[in-house]
Amino acid sequence: MPESNAELAENPVEVSSVCVNCQHQNKHEIDQSGRATVTCEQCSTQYSAQTYQVRAKGGRRDRQSGIKHYSVRVKEPDREETLLVFDSDKDIEMRSGDWITASYLQGTLKYLVNHTIHGYWDVMPKKSGCLGMVIIVVLLICVVGVVLGLGARVV
Ligand SMILES: [Zn+2]
Repeated sequence: MPESNAELAENPVEVSSVCVNCQHQNKHEIDQSGRATVTCEQCSTQYSAQTYQVRAKGGRRDRQSGIKHYSVRVKEPDREETLLVFDSDKDIEMRSGDWITASYLQGTLKYLVNHTIHGYWDVMPKKSGCLGMVIIVVLLICVVGVVLGLGARVV
């Protein structure tokens, strides 16, 4: 894998990504921003791949379900840092500086390959998004209630 982003920009790199349908590992080149649209050589499914460099990994295991909640800070080759948030029942190994390639099916993260240790894992999008929305809605209702209450008292 490239040592720097500049090197990646000059020399197209070949990476492996995991097919979102049959888990075949396809080898393909990526563009300057680490992206690729891949057609699986085994099952012809088309999916998108994105290569990142890992900055920092956080993980927390849910004791009841055994599912681990990951949040990994990564950098796209020509862009800002971004955060990958996902769940997995596997222990995913990645360290700062590792190059990883994510496979997406219609924008949903499905597989992650770590090129440094030649391992890959199936992952699923984090599910706690609904809870966050519920909290926001409840807060809004409280705020509106307080404002209305104050207004009533002034009148
Ligand atoms: Zn396939």
